[in-house]
Amino acid sequence: MNKPRVLVTAPIHSIAVDLLKNVVDVYVANPPLVREEDISKVVEELDPVAIIAVRGAEHIGRVVFDKGPSLIVIARNGVGYDRIDVNTATERGIWVTMTPVKELFHAVAEHAISLMMCLARKICIADRHVRRGGWLYDSLRGLSLVDKIVGIIGLGRIGSEIARRARALGMRVLYYSKSRKPELEERLGIEYAGLEALLSLSDFVVIAVPLTEETENMIGEGELKTMKDSAYLINVSRGAVVDRNALIKALRERWIAGAALDVFHIEPLPRDDPLLELENVILTPHIAWFTEEAEVAMAKTAAEEVLRAIRCEEPLYPVNPRVSGRARSRCIEIIKRITFS
Ligand code: NAP
Repeated sequence: MNKPRVLVTAPIHSIAVDLLKNVVDVYVANPPLVREEDISKVVEELDPVAIIAVRGAEHIGRVVFDKGPSLIVIARNGVGYDRIDVNTATERGIWVTMTPVKELFHAVAEHAISLMMCLARKICIADRHVRRGGWLYDSLRGLSLVDKIVGIIGLGRIGSEIARRARALGMRVLYYSKSRKPELEERLGIEYAGLEALLSLSDFVVIAVPLTEETENMIGEGELKTMKDSAYLINVSRGAVVDRNALIKALRERWIAGAALDVFHIEPLPRDDPLLELENVILTPHIAWFTEEAEVAMAKTAAEEVLRAIRCEEPLYPVNPRVSGRARSRCIEIIKRITFS
């Protein structure tokens, strides 16, 4: 009997490989695969039943699906799936799954709060200052977070965890979201605001929306100019939610005091990116999710979703639940063909 094959786009926690290896042959790409043409080449060779998209930067669309007739499931090791063509996957009867585990939301929220503290207390600037032999205090005076206003754009699983932590620090929390959340307003003691009001009032603006057609470039020149010149922008969602050129201009010309970014238009950030020259920005390499706890919980969940799909069972965390009936019947045929060929 043949084993189905699973392609993992980048090294993943060993818990995932250990769970999968008795049932399937696992191929872990290293260096990681990101570009659609590179993924499709490997998919053409392996004809896998599943791809685990480890990092979220992987582009998986029509070209990959065309080369992988046996694909049953694309399992995102994370919750952002803006680089996966979910509509085409659904048309083709392929499940797309994600890993919405609490450890991930805690990790991203803690990272956002860490960035906020680093901005407020100029931690990164102070570190560079001391390493260069400096000990001058004046330019390192910080801001206290108590009673400051944080505006959270997108009050979903991550945004609400950021709100909870900001309240614990004594901050006033405004949020803007597609829909109002009266229950969370009550429970967390937070206030809804329109986008313009949130931008003009907040000392810290944190972006936690998914990247969609609606949110692409949601924060542009007008929005950055609406912010106070003493305010900071923190982005832990996706780079393309912010207009890159407008942000660079805003940081250079000090329309805002600074920014902290975990996500970028192009990842890895090109070596000649103008952001690298700016002192008033903190840059982290898309690691908001990356804690020991989240890494293990996500890898385990992604592997379990793949195993469930290979048994032709409903995934626990489908992105495209309406594919279900078709995905199941395709799956039964494909697994029978592979196993007995
Ligand atoms: P979520 O639970 O789906 O929440 C998203 C929130 O954004 C919801 O409150 C939603 O409003 C709001 N929203 C969506 N479109 C909007 C729009 N056009 N205008 C205003 N609000 C809008 O998502 P999540 O799990 O919190 O994750 C958010 C994003 O974080 C992910 O999509 C991913 O891109 C990113 N992320 C980054 C990392 C990292 O390591 N940096 C890790 C994980 C996730 P409604 O509730 O009203 O629909």
